[in-house]
Amino acid sequence: MGAMAELVQAGGAAIEVRGLAKSYGGVHAVRGIDLTVERGRIFALLGPNGAGKTTTVEILEGYRSRDGGTVKVLGYDPARQRQRLKSQIGIVLQSSGMDRYLTVSETVAMYAGFYPRPRPVDEVIELVGLEAKRDTRVLKLSGGQQRRLDVAIALAGNPDLLFLDEPTTGFDPSARHEAWEVIRNLAALGKTVLLTTHYMDEAQYLADRVAVISNGLIVAEGSPATIGNRERARARIRYRLTDGVAPPADLTAPPGPDGLTELVPDDLTTALLGHGTVRISAAKVVNTSTYYVAAMASFAVISACYTNIAISVSFQRDTGVLKRMNGTPLPSAIFLGARMVHALFVAIVLVVITAAFGRVLYSADIPTGVTLLRFLVMLVVGAASFCALGFAIASVIPNADASPAIVNASILPLLFLSGIFIPLGSNAPAWIVWIARIFPVRHFAEGMQAGFLGTPFHWTDVLVVAAWGLGGLLFSVRFFSWEPRT
Ligand code: ATP
Repeated sequence: MGAMAELVQAGGAAIEVRGLAKSYGGVHAVRGIDLTVERGRIFALLGPNGAGKTTTVEILEGYRSRDGGTVKVLGYDPARQRQRLKSQIGIVLQSSGMDRYLTVSETVAMYAGFYPRPRPVDEVIELVGLEAKRDTRVLKLSGGQQRRLDVAIALAGNPDLLFLDEPTTGFDPSARHEAWEVIRNLAALGKTVLLTTHYMDEAQYLADRVAVISNGLIVAEGSPATIGNRERARARIRYRLTDGVAPPADLTAPPGPDGLTELVPDDLTTALLGHGTVRISAAKVVNTSTYYVAAMASFAVISACYTNIAISVSFQRDTGVLKRMNGTPLPSAIFLGARMVHALFVAIVLVVITAAFGRVLYSADIPTGVTLLRFLVMLVVGAASFCALGFAIASVIPNADASPAIVNASILPLLFLSGIFIPLGSNAPAWIVWIARIFPVRHFAEGMQAGFLGTPFHWTDVLVVAAWGLGGLLFSVRFFSWEPRT
C-alpha cells in the first residue's frame, strides 16, 4: 500500500461497519449491524449473554470470518489484511491464555517483543497498576490482577485501538472500579477503545458512545446519557407466535426482519383490555383504557357518595345509631354534613387511585391547570349532590336489609343508560338519550371525562348535577327519618 493510502487510512473513523452478518449453522448471531467508532473514543457494545457481542468484536479483530457486510478497522479489512492490522490493535479476550510460570514483567516483555513499536514494559505495568506485582508469577495473581495483566498484554505493542471483551465480568465491585480506572487511563492516552459489556453502569461510566445489541441487532445507539434515560422511556415488547397460531385480529402488525413483532403501546392496552378505541363523539375517538379511567373515576364517586351513604345510613338507622345521635346535643346538620365530608374524602382518594393506575398502566391523561380546577368543581359538586341523593333515597328505604337492592336497582340501570360503561352511540334510542339528559349521572360523567379525555367542559353539566343535589337535599329535609321506618 502506498504512502497516500496510508494517509487516507490515518484519518476517518477507527472502525466502520456496515450490514455485518454472521450465522453459525441455523443460529443468526449477527443480523446486519452498522457501527462507527470515532478515533480517540471509548465505544461500548452493551448487551446480554448471546447477544452477538463477542462474534462482532472477534470479526473486527480478524479472528472470525463474516458472512456479509463491510468492515474497516483502522482502514483495513480484518478478513483480508489481518497481518497489517495486528500490529496496530490490542486485544483483551474473554478467556486469556497466559504462561502461568512467567512473572508479570516477563509476560509483558515477551508480548512487547512481538510488536514493531512497543511501549516500555515498566510504563505498561504502571498503566495497569501492577507495579507491586512486577515480579510475581502469573499463577499467584488474583483474578482481577490477571485481568489487568490481560490489559497490559494488549497495551504492550502500543496499539492505537484496543478491543476489550467483557473486561470486568466476574469482578467484585472494587476490582471493577480499579479496572475502570485502567480503561480511563487508556482514553487519556488517546487510544480508541471498543469494549463489550453486560453492565449498563460500566458503559455509562466509561463510554463516550454506547450501542445496545440484542439478538444480533443494534436496538439503540447514542451517548450514555441518552441511552441511560431509556429506563424512563416506554418498554418495548416484541413477540413471536408459535407456528400455526394466528394473532388476535387487533394485533396484526407485520413482523420485523428478525421475525419478531413489536407490540406498540396501543396494542398493549388493546391486549390488556381487549378493545381498541371508543368513539365518544362524532369528532373524538379515545383509547378504551383511557375512556374507562374516566368512567371508573365517575363510578367511584357515585359509589363512595350515593351508594355508601344510602346503605350505611339505612344500617345506622336500623341499629339505632342515628336515633342515639339525634338524642345528643350534636346538631343533625353537623352529623349529616360530617358524613358528606367523609364520603367526599373517600371519593377523592378513589379518584386519585384510579387516575394513578390509569396513568401508570394506560398512560391516561391527568387533568392539569384550568382543566384541573373545573374537574375539581365537578368532583366536589358531584360528590355533594350524590351524597344528598343518598340521603334522599335512604329516606324511602324501608329497612337496612332492603337497602343494597334498592340502591343498586336505582343506580346501575342509570349508569348503563347514561353511557358510563358503554358509550351512547349516535343511533341510541331517543328514550335512552332522554334519560341520559334528564338524570345527573351522564352530566356528572361528562364533567369528569372533560378532565381525563380533554372533551369540552360544560357548566350546564355542573348546574344539572347541582340541581339534582339540591332536590335531594330538600327531599331529605322533608322526609328523612332518624328512627327505624318499619
Ligand atoms: P456473551 O456475553 O455470553 O459472551 P455475546 O453477546 O458475546 O455473549 P456471542 O458469543 O457473539 O454473544 O454469541 C451470539 C450467538 O451465537 C449465541 O447464540 C451463541 O450461542 C452463538 N455462537 C457464538 N459462537 C458460536 C460458535 N462458534 N458456534 C456456534 N454458535 C455460536
